[in-house]
Amino acid sequence: MLPPGSTIGILGGGQLGRMMAMAAMQLGYRCIAYAPPGDNVAAEPCIDMFENGWGDRSALAAFAAKCDVVTWEFENVPLAAVAAIPNYLLACPPRALEVAQDRLNEKGFIAQLGGTSAPYARVESDEDFARAINAVGTPGILKTAREGYDGKGQWRIGSAHEAGGVRFPGQACIYEGLVAFEAEFSVILVRNREGEVRFWDSTANHHEGGMLAQSLLPAGAAIEAQVPAARELAAKTAQALGYVGVLTLEFFATAQGPVFNEMAPRVHNSGHWTIEGAATSQFENHIRAIAGLPLGATATRFASIDMRNIVGEDALSAHAILAEEGEPHLHLYGKREARSGRKMGHVTRVGHALP
Ligand code: AMP
Repeated sequence: MLPPGSTIGILGGGQLGRMMAMAAMQLGYRCIAYAPPGDNVAAEPCIDMFENGWGDRSALAAFAAKCDVVTWEFENVPLAAVAAIPNYLLACPPRALEVAQDRLNEKGFIAQLGGTSAPYARVESDEDFARAINAVGTPGILKTAREGYDGKGQWRIGSAHEAGGVRFPGQACIYEGLVAFEAEFSVILVRNREGEVRFWDSTANHHEGGMLAQSLLPAGAAIEAQVPAARELAAKTAQALGYVGVLTLEFFATAQGPVFNEMAPRVHNSGHWTIEGAATSQFENHIRAIAGLPLGATATRFASIDMRNIVGEDALSAHAILAEEGEPHLHLYGKREARSGRKMGHVTRVGHALP
């Protein structure tokens, strides 16, 4: 067990790191974040922030020298940067990042474990794209294999005719058939070093423009029926990766059962409701897992939960939410500029407390 006063290093400087550091602080730990220069909102609850490039090996070494354990809040931390951190400090094997950083890798990995994904094909040229359209059919989505997030690096293709107007974007891509889903959900689990796994309830997730907008509980019958199979796959994934901490798998609920979409080897936006809505939040349990502390209960505390993201300029008037009846729990991430499409905060509204 990591003693109180120990230092946790966080690779990445965004809101996930910020909320992770807030949870760590409550447990008596200190955090240091590392990310390239930018609006690194994780810096505020951290005692130190290294604003250096991912390629700066001496800065990474100086950062590591101050840490007792290192985790990440961002799945696109370059593997070379992680390799510059002494292995014994890494809470979780970097293989989890390697798999999750590439949509082709993660789909192959999930297939090996018996999971189902949308039909897909690798696209590395215009010719590949034409072949993929033929093989997979339309409608579909062309996505960059790496580094896409929140709907960025994605092109919806309605028909073969429409595909003619889309050029290969010059980096490895995946073309996926569009899944006719009833609903979307995620499985969020925490796994400790001994291999114990706990799950939070799965919310129904609603996306707008490829970005999560809202997570709701109860999730509804279509999702609830598919959660056991999805959990089984998520637990196998965590075990196969030797994972320690919070891991998220996103799914489509379809008439044929759960279809895997993508994984995030980290705490997840669709788990923000757990701060007030669960016995232990995803952030706290992530810290507990990487620190070797006992895991906390994950039970949901309210009959209904509604988490909505606050995006762009809506953040400027978000304090008005506090005047609402009930219990609106507002979180603002302290980002300097309320750019359109940028996640600025979230609000969790809860219903009746469960007995
Ligand atoms: P992703 O970045 O892969 O999570 O995609 C963002 C969102 O786009 C998903 O949560 C879905 O709402 C939608 N989407 C992505 N891929 C597919 C697909 N193959 N079929 C249907 N919807 C999709």
